[in-house]
Amino acid sequence: MNLQFINAADLVGHWINGHADAGAGTRVGEVFNPAEGRVARQVALATRADVDRAVAAARAAFADWGSAAPQRRARVMFKFRDLVDQYSTDIAKLLSAEHGKTLPDALGEVQRGLEVIEFACGIPQLLKGQHSHGIGGGIDHWNQRMPLGVTAGITPFNFPFMVPMWMAPMALACGNTFILKPSERDPSPSLFAAELLREAGLPAGAFNVIQGDKEAVDALLEHPFVSAVSFVGSTPIAKYIQAHGIAHGKRVQALGGAKNHMVVMPDADLDGAADALIGAAYGSAGERCMAISVAVAVGSCADDLVARVLARAKKLKVGAGDAANVEMGPLVTAVHRDKVAGYIAAGVQEGAKLVLDGREGLTGELAQGFFINPTLFDNVTPNMSIYQEEIFGPVLCVVRVPTFAAAVELINRHTFANGVACFTRDGGTAQAFIQKIEVGMVGINVPIPVPMAWHSFGGWKASLFGDHHIYGEEGVRFYTRYKAIMQRWPGSESKGPEFVMPVNK
Ligand code: NAD
Repeated sequence: MNLQFINAADLVGHWINGHADAGAGTRVGEVFNPAEGRVARQVALATRADVDRAVAAARAAFADWGSAAPQRRARVMFKFRDLVDQYSTDIAKLLSAEHGKTLPDALGEVQRGLEVIEFACGIPQLLKGQHSHGIGGGIDHWNQRMPLGVTAGITPFNFPFMVPMWMAPMALACGNTFILKPSERDPSPSLFAAELLREAGLPAGAFNVIQGDKEAVDALLEHPFVSAVSFVGSTPIAKYIQAHGIAHGKRVQALGGAKNHMVVMPDADLDGAADALIGAAYGSAGERCMAISVAVAVGSCADDLVARVLARAKKLKVGAGDAANVEMGPLVTAVHRDKVAGYIAAGVQEGAKLVLDGREGLTGELAQGFFINPTLFDNVTPNMSIYQEEIFGPVLCVVRVPTFAAAVELINRHTFANGVACFTRDGGTAQAFIQKIEVGMVGINVPIPVPMAWHSFGGWKASLFGDHHIYGEEGVRFYTRYKAIMQRWPGSESKGPEFVMPVNK
């Protein structure tokens, strides 16, 4: 397969109407190699004119794609699924190079994206609708799910392949056309997906990629022919996307940031809990919306838990994402690394106990790239900024509480409510936790409870704005609207005109 964008790798451009497109603008952004701390390439930043061209292509493609038989759309998804599988290592290498995460972690990301494509292959079954035969007077009544038209997705840097796949396969399988505005920090995996969709037989214009920043996003939100916008990113931008999108008549789902807690009960397997915490707090350098950033140690287990986490964190192998046996890579940019380092300084100033300082030990290649080592705070309290705000780095805060009830109360008071976990050996505690906790995704002895493709992903409170979670059946609902049809054929008796509200007879 001839990969157009890789051949022109110095400037990552757009994908409009079935082919690579340099765009009309002159503004560009920098894409880094975060492990080496250098600029790797540039990315084009779209103008409104570029967005207009993408919308026009998507609108034209909708005429056929939106009315294609669902099994025809499913067949494209089946082929796309096979191609993603075939090229999974190449996609993983590409995203790891721009994002910084380790290769095995990047492969896991590709796999979770692939699972949504697999779910979308079942679209004929998912679109079946509802039917009521003979509701009176020879009338049949049914609801059928109709695509919305041109839809758009705006995605974050931390999952440059998986999050676009949360959206595009669902939108396309439902019969919509789609415009993706990926993060400008790691823009290439989206173009890889575009090439594979074309190879899978998707008609030109059905899937487009617009690289860019706020200018491109605003152009999409304000465009009269864009029907729906899916967003995943930070909470302030999610709020803006929802308000601005709704003001322009769009259907919007906007997933925001997180501060995920993991409760460790005194009866838990502490070694198992410490292993889970290490992976969930420091995996992908903490740049996951489902990362655990707060460990809530209940009662007597706190000292033992902190000792176990500390021992493991000290041994964690940090380095370039493509180096052998590395467990944690760099942060995505120098600006983000400095922001995380600023939070560590703030935590110290606010009185938390810095047990392990990730600003230390940054020598050799770690000094070149955008690295922060694993960081552990103990005795964190709810008034501290390191507890309240999303740090999005390898910083784990331990909050000590006396009881299970205090743990639940603490978590329910937090503004974010994406994911949460409870480690315990007691079934009653687990059941009480599931019932009482006000968070969208809950793990019992599972640190990162990311729902499978046939369920749906979404947090509560400031972690999601809009009515729909993403992918799964919620994805089908978001990307379709019901048309209600009542049908009577000639041959049924005519009873003359009726002037009262129709009721079932
Ligand atoms: P971000 O909000 O900075 O950017 C997300 C997208 O919005 C990007 O495409 C970006 O170009 C665009 N954008 C940025 N500023 C904008 C503005 N002022 N106006 C319009 N568009 C703008 O997020 P990020 O730093 O790329 O990603 C990390 C964040 O995403 C974290 O907060 C993380 O928790 C969140 N996230 C949430 C989920 C979830 O499922 N809830 C999943 C992944 C990431």
